[in-house]
Amino acid sequence: MVTAYSYLDHNATSPLRPAALDAMVEALHAGGNPSSVHRPGRAARARIDKARRQVAALVGALPGEVVFTSGGTEANNIALHGHQRVLVSAIEHESVLKAVPGAACIPVDGNGVLDLAALERMLTSKPSLVSVMFANNETGVIQPIAEVVRLARASGALVHCDAVQAAGKVPVDLHGLGVDYLSLSAHKLGGPTGVGALVVREGVPLVTDRFGGGQESYRRAGTENVAGIAGFGAAAEASRDGLDVAALRERIEASLPGRVYGAAAPRLPNTTCLSMPGVKAETQVMALDLAGVAVSAGSACSSGKVNRSAVLTAMGVEPAEAETAIRISCGWNTVFEDIERLITAWQGLYTRVGRSDITSAARRAA
Ligand code: PLP
Repeated sequence: MVTAYSYLDHNATSPLRPAALDAMVEALHAGGNPSSVHRPGRAARARIDKARRQVAALVGALPGEVVFTSGGTEANNIALHGHQRVLVSAIEHESVLKAVPGAACIPVDGNGVLDLAALERMLTSKPSLVSVMFANNETGVIQPIAEVVRLARASGALVHCDAVQAAGKVPVDLHGLGVDYLSLSAHKLGGPTGVGALVVREGVPLVTDRFGGGQESYRRAGTENVAGIAGFGAAAEASRDGLDVAALRERIEASLPGRVYGAAAPRLPNTTCLSMPGVKAETQVMALDLAGVAVSAGSACSSGKVNRSAVLTAMGVEPAEAETAIRISCGWNTVFEDIERLITAWQGLYTRVGRSDITSAARRAA
């Protein structure tokens, strides 16, 4: 029976950081509606104000530019809401792609990096908004956002950047980049699920699709999730130095012989998208789980079903090969022991199943 377990699926959700848990427990005990003028209300408001400063500091924004939401999905949805002509990258998260079904897709190259020449050509259609993520959730590949902003500005378009996977892992600077809308999610950086933010650069319009109270300066109606927001703020502060896990990723990639997708591109320090030739991702995920390691199929979706990865497909990976890719993602509490457990389990599976599968396939083909 396996007792020790290594969680290497931080891009799906990262365990709650102790500072976030403390802030949440404190806020839950204290209660209070931040819109109330009495003492408990003012204390709840103070918690939100503190979290707003903490989240703003993480991404080089002003506190007033932070609009708290129910997560990254809602942040992406409201950023895109109200824009008619939109360009999105081909590798965006579903919460972007499905929010603007008619959007034109900007292609990526074989390394998963946005094709800037294609973007430049597509900008002649005069879109009102360009949406490109900071870093991809499956491959970790970092996109040339400063270049995207430069090109979009020249053609008069605003820029939305989904930084859900980047914030807290690598430096993100709203004003340095000149991005207009930036999406964040607390649970990807050690905060709670169900809370996030859309950071809107001062002076940039935001079309709300919610009506009700005047919360979040009339930009997002509804009584705030005070405990969740307090936890988000604490997690944002705790992750300000980013993730120092590049050595773990290097150990993984030097030890496992599968193909690493996006290997030649700048990537998040915590993410490896890797194939095990001949073995379906689902088989790998289940076998590794039994061996005490949590990873995900690169394309795990909300239904729990594994679909072929649209990201790898956009990168030109053959469908049969894309089905053999898993995502390994480290986080704030990952240690070398976790990586050694993964390597032993992966190599064991490859020896038992992978090679025998390949050999029998070759035999059948002969
Ligand atoms: N954007 C990216 C790149 C993501 O990886 C995710 C979650 O997987 C989201 C948005 C959605 O965030 P949330 O789970 O907070 O709705």
